[in-house]
Amino acid sequence: MEPKRNTRLRIECPLCGLPIRAEDEDQLVQYFREHMWEQHRRAMSEDTAREMVRATLQASAESRQP
Ligand SMILES: [Zn+2]
Repeated sequence: MEPKRNTRLRIECPLCGLPIRAEDEDQLVQYFREHMWEQHRRAMSEDTAREMVRATLQASAESRQP
């Protein structure tokens, strides 16, 4: 049972800490942008959202050492 690549990604909103989950990076970027606009009225470009998603994912991967 090998897990699929990039499934079940999760980040937390830096403003309110709400966990945002998605199946892949594109979806996560989209959900994150929607959340930022709907909850915080902050317009975020796709590039900015993707950078934040990647930085967060890398950080959480590094902290998950055995
Ligand atoms: Zn939020």
